Amino acid sequence: MADSAATAANWMTYGGTYSEQRFSPLKQIDKSNVSRLGLTWFADYDTNLQQDGTPLEIDGVIYVSTAWSKVYAFEARTGKTLWQYDPKTPGQWVRNLCCGIVNRGIAAWNGKIYVGTLDGRLVAIDAGTGKPVWQTLTIDPKERYSITSAPRVAKGRVLVGLAGGEYGVRGYISAYDAETGKLDWRFYTVPGDPSQPFESDAMKKAASTWGPGSAQWLKRGGGGTTWDALVYDPVTNLVYFGVGNGTPWNQDYRDPKGGDNLFLASIVAVNADTGEYAWHYQETPAETWDYDAVSPLSVVDLSIDRRQQRVLLQPSKNGFFYVIAARTGKLLKATPFVDLNWADGVDMKTGRPRVKPEARYPAGSKGFNLFPGGAQGAHSWQGNAYSPDTGLIYIPTEHAYSPMVYDPNYEASDTGTNLGIEFRGRPAWYAAHPREKRSSTSLLQAWDPKTGQPVWAGDEGPGANGGAVATAGGLVFEGNGAGNQLRAFDANTGTVLWSFDAQTSVLASPISYELDGKQYIAVSVGGAATDYYAPNYSRLLVFSLEGKAKLPPNQPFTPRPLLPPPLDAQATPADVQAGEQLYARDCLICHGDRGRQARGLFPDLTRTPLLYTQEGFDAVVLKGQLSARGMASFADALQPEDTFRIRNFLIDTANKLEAAPPPATPAASDTHGRQ
Ligand code: CA
Repeated sequence: MADSAATAANWMTYGGTYSEQRFSPLKQIDKSNVSRLGLTWFADYDTNLQQDGTPLEIDGVIYVSTAWSKVYAFEARTGKTLWQYDPKTPGQWVRNLCCGIVNRGIAAWNGKIYVGTLDGRLVAIDAGTGKPVWQTLTIDPKERYSITSAPRVAKGRVLVGLAGGEYGVRGYISAYDAETGKLDWRFYTVPGDPSQPFESDAMKKAASTWGPGSAQWLKRGGGGTTWDALVYDPVTNLVYFGVGNGTPWNQDYRDPKGGDNLFLASIVAVNADTGEYAWHYQETPAETWDYDAVSPLSVVDLSIDRRQQRVLLQPSKNGFFYVIAARTGKLLKATPFVDLNWADGVDMKTGRPRVKPEARYPAGSKGFNLFPGGAQGAHSWQGNAYSPDTGLIYIPTEHAYSPMVYDPNYEASDTGTNLGIEFRGRPAWYAAHPREKRSSTSLLQAWDPKTGQPVWAGDEGPGANGGAVATAGGLVFEGNGAGNQLRAFDANTGTVLWSFDAQTSVLASPISYELDGKQYIAVSVGGAATDYYAPNYSRLLVFSLEGKAKLPPNQPFTPRPLLPPPLDAQATPADVQAGEQLYARDCLICHGDRGRQARGLFPDLTRTPLLYTQEGFDAVVLKGQLSARGMASFADALQPEDTFRIRNFLIDTANKLEAAPPPATPAASDTHGRQ
């Protein structure tokens, strides 16, 4: 395997090339013939879970990561499975995941494939045999870290970030020797224990932006995880990465003095050889909204202010589209790409957003209906595509509100999430504020980074949409999420020229490559739209102009009925209420509002037969009967009287749902796959 930017025929890195533009210079498939595009082959995965992985195609082999950090290698000409690697992540680690049992991608270098696992390992796999060559633990296993993002390779080192910002960890990025797995350098994103020396001058600088009395962040690590954006630029010899939210989300609990809290919600550049700090730009100082700055970054040469410049482009979760000078970190443009409501723009002199005071949802206020919100913000992990032909960047854009309400009763938790807001109370909050807007929709938006203006927008659909790829054939391929369609857009106009029914969610970014003189499009699909128990069709799909294959028809499926039992005779209204609190702390982040997942990544607890007996419920919740599937024991967090209360809260909820079924719209609290 050669340099990852070497050849257009292959798709050798997560974002296509080092600059991560997700652009293919191939043009055999174009506007005139894309209507003939057909399925060439497909390969089923061994899971019905959501698929976020961008495949790689290298010299006739497709490598792709799937749920549970597994990796497949397929013969690209036939679809034959060459090998599958399973890192055997322990099921109980799922308790440390905010956002699904997902993996977004892998790296390839010198005959090896690299994958980060949910439980924090970095594994080098022999690309020919699928056997592990080395593996190293990148985390302290006592802390609730995870890896869902793709590693990248730069100058013989494997770069890897991590997730866990909702739980309470200290963020960093690491570089390992690609041949041996030895740690070369590590850059922390937030300061550590003040009784210890600073790891670097950058940490000394960062520490001055955290209040000295902010004991909460010391206890909880502060956050600042590095769970997606990560780019190596050979031209500047810098590595750029995005830094996530603070822990807890609510800054009042994290750092009551309200400092900027570097390097939370920032883009940071470090020297690729040493990991030494080069520059940073903080998008959201004093972050308090879960505004991770980790959405994908692209490096582009652009004429900005009448001067050709090397820039970073990022449509951020906070709703601003940033153009930043790649060499210096100077902010060149910050333009809203959605109708955000928390700030009145960015002061270009200071680079700081002009934040509306009420948006900080102070204690005692009614809360603030944040837009963009909904945990995914305006843009999450889905890959953007930049076409040098059109000069446009194609942004999977999300429109979601979420009420940010101060939680006066927050206490740091070692087992649940650490947010400091009333995450559970969103339905009740909307009921109390019926005129407040709520939505969770998405669309593909073409954006001109030079003018800071939209050029076209695709149709708006429910939930999150998928990552994009642009081609020199004048096309953009993108999935519409739970709409199950992979579509080809005219890159200039947004007209839909082709679509394919994938029978399941299309969230991952497609890729394009050439083999034996033929251009292909490949995409990993999967993710039950509404029901964990529904049959699923998680697969790799490969298309070409001559493709004639057909997917097998959908299997018949009847959703499980509600049929809740009555409340236990001894359960009081106070038990139900206490159960709701406990549920919010320990269960909601996976199982959703009131036990109902808006999408089918985890079971709908209002329909589980486990509601019928406390013994059966406790066998799972306290004794870990389903831990291999990711539902670990909560015996360290919950007592039998707690699970009695949670179960009766769920029974109460199920009975209320049966009496008054809600309309079938996606819930605003659907966080999965978004971190
Ligand atoms: Ca986050």
